[in-house]
Amino acid sequence: MMLSVRGLTVSYGPIGAVHGIDLEIGAGEIVALIGANGAGKTTTVKAIAGLLPFGGSVTLDGTPLRPGAAERNLRAGIALVPEGRGILGRMTVEENLLMGTYCRTDRRAAAADLAGMYDRFPILADRRAGLASLLSGGEQQMLAIARALLSRPRLLLLDEPSLGLAPKMASFVFELVASLRADGLTVLLVEQKARHTLKIADRAYLLELGRVVTSGPARALADDPVISQTFLGGR
Ligand code: ATP
Repeated sequence: MMLSVRGLTVSYGPIGAVHGIDLEIGAGEIVALIGANGAGKTTTVKAIAGLLPFGGSVTLDGTPLRPGAAERNLRAGIALVPEGRGILGRMTVEENLLMGTYCRTDRRAAAADLAGMYDRFPILADRRAGLASLLSGGEQQMLAIARALLSRPRLLLLDEPSLGLAPKMASFVFELVASLRADGLTVLLVEQKARHTLKIADRAYLLELGRVVTSGPARALADDPVISQTFLGGR
């Protein structure tokens, strides 16, 4: 397994948010974390990214990751697209993208990757000199994902990338996530839009109140009548 999480616990002060989660992600998989508001999805991905102290163990290719070592994790190949996107609106589109390359030392390859990103997302090329705050919500999500890709991650953590987007743009984002697999990326996708998510994911974990209540192949979860009724809002 590329990423292995064992007995993950996270608390905010005295309040426990994640109570012993186990999860695994194999190379090249798209794994979804689904569950209601407050289930602990964001807390889990932040802990994996190194942004929160945690108990238990998280290993990447067998190497333990230290809690709170976000920059080290980024260099090890874990990139996070945070909930709310984390775009710096008063900087230009290009400045936001360049931030994605700051941890790299291969400047020439990074410049080539930036050019490649503009080919892939022509809207970002058109707007490269404009302020990021002037992009639409969907374009900002595209920018956030492109910025994360520019760190050349092996594991991409995406926290609610479709949140607040118009349906057409949300579909575009789901297609984009599905296409990342072809780039050889491994993805942990946190989403509220469970049905859509289960269509593009290989496997999924359903969280409730900081625990995994069920996990398995995404298609099996989507087809399970009890899960469908209880967690996915029926058919
Ligand atoms: P959402 O979809 O709303 O982001 P989630 O599944 O990602 O939900 P978390 O944001 O991880 O859930 O929250 C898990 C629990 O931790 C919730 O009970 C939440 O109230 C609590 N929590 C989250 N962030 C904080 C914080 N900064 N301080 C205190 N409690 C927090």
